[in-house]
Amino acid sequence: MYSELSAIVGSEAIKYNQLMSDYTTFQIGGPIDVLVEPDDTEQLCRVLVWCRDNNMPFFIFGAASNLLVRDKGIRGVGIRLADRFSRFKVEGESIFAQVGIRLSDLARIAADNELTGMEFAEGIPGTLGGAVVMNAGAYDHEIKEILAEVDAVDSDGRIINFKPEDMKMAYRQSVFQENKMTVVSARIALSHSNKELINAKMQELRDSRASKQPLDKPSAGSVFRRPEGYYVGPMVEKLGLKGFQIGGAKVSKKHAGFIINAGNATAADVLALIEEVQLRARQEFGVDLQTEIRIVGEE
Ligand SMILES: Cc1cc2nc3c(=O)[nH]c(=O)nc-3n(C[C@H](O)[C@H](O)[C@H](O)COP(=O)(O)OP(=O)(O)OC[C@H]3O[C@@H](n4cnc5c(N)ncnc54)[C@H](O)[C@@H]3O)c2cc1C
Repeated sequence: MYSELSAIVGSEAIKYNQLMSDYTTFQIGGPIDVLVEPDDTEQLCRVLVWCRDNNMPFFIFGAASNLLVRDKGIRGVGIRLADRFSRFKVEGESIFAQVGIRLSDLARIAADNELTGMEFAEGIPGTLGGAVVMNAGAYDHEIKEILAEVDAVDSDGRIINFKPEDMKMAYRQSVFQENKMTVVSARIALSHSNKELINAKMQELRDSRASKQPLDKPSAGSVFRRPEGYYVGPMVEKLGLKGFQIGGAKVSKKHAGFIINAGNATAADVLALIEEVQLRARQEFGVDLQTEIRIVGEE
C-alpha cells in the first residue's frame, strides 16, 4: 500500500511503525504507522497529494520539541521535516531556508555571517518550521520579528506565499495552527553587526538558559502558556508542586514550568500531572492554565 509513497521519497526515507519516543525531546510517544522524510518541496507536495487521494491522515513535525505524543501513537503518515529538509542560502542581510533547519544552526550561520537578530533563538531546540508555526520566542523576542516571508503548502499540494501581515502571529500563535498548512521555507530578515557582539550575546543567553532550565532532562519545554498576570513557574512553586511526580513524569525542581521525563514516563503520566497542576491552579488561583505543548495521537 505504501509502495507509492516509498517511490516518492526513496526507500531510505520511509520507515514503518517507528516509536515517536525516538523522535520527541520528551522521549515519550507510541508508534506512528509510517514515517517519511521528504527531501524537497516537490516530494512533500507529492506526499500530501498521495495522502489526499488515499484519504490518509498525516501529521507534520520537525524536531518534536513541543510535542506530547499519546501512548497509542499516531495513525497515518508522519511527515518529518528536519535534517533532510534543511538547505539554506545567505542573501545579503537575509537568510532563505528550508524549514527543517534547526534554530541553533540558523543562529550560528547568522553569527558567522555577522548578522544579528537570531541570538534569542539559539537555545530553542526546534526547527525553523516549528518556530514559525508556534511563533517561538525567548528573552522578549519572537520569531515573528524577523520573518520576512513564508511559503506553505496546502493539502492539495499548492504552494502559497505568506507576508508578515498574513501570518496572524501572536503569543505562541500563528495562522498555520488554524489553516493546517505545511510550512516549507522562510526568509529571515536580519541586519549586519559585529561577530564578537553577536557571539557574546548568544553566550550570555545560553548561560542564562542553562542556569534556569533542566536541559539535562527530557522535556518539551514550558508546558503551559503564560496566563495574564502570572508566571507559571512561580505559580506552580506556590502550589507546592515543585518536584511532584506521577509515574515517571515530574514537575522540574529547577523550573516548575517544565515537566520532565524522570525515567520511563508515559504520556498518560504526563497528562495526569498536567491535569493535577491545572486543577490546583484553578482551585487556588482561579486561573485556567492552557497547555502550550501540542498533545497529539490516538486517545
Ligand atoms: C528544553 C526546551 C526549551 C524550550 N524553550 C523554548 C523557548 O524558549 N521558547 C519557545 O517558544 N519554545 C521553547 N521550547 C519549545 C519548542 O522548542 C518550540 O515550540 C519550537 O519552536 C518547536 O519546534 P519543533 O521543530 O520542535 O516543532 P514540533 O514540536 O515538531 O511541532 C510543533 C507544532 O508545529 C507543527 N509543525 C512543526 N513543523 C511544521 C511545519 N513545517 N509545518 C506545519 N506545521 C509544523 C507540529 O505539527 C506541531 O503542532 C522549548 C523546548 C524544550 C524541549
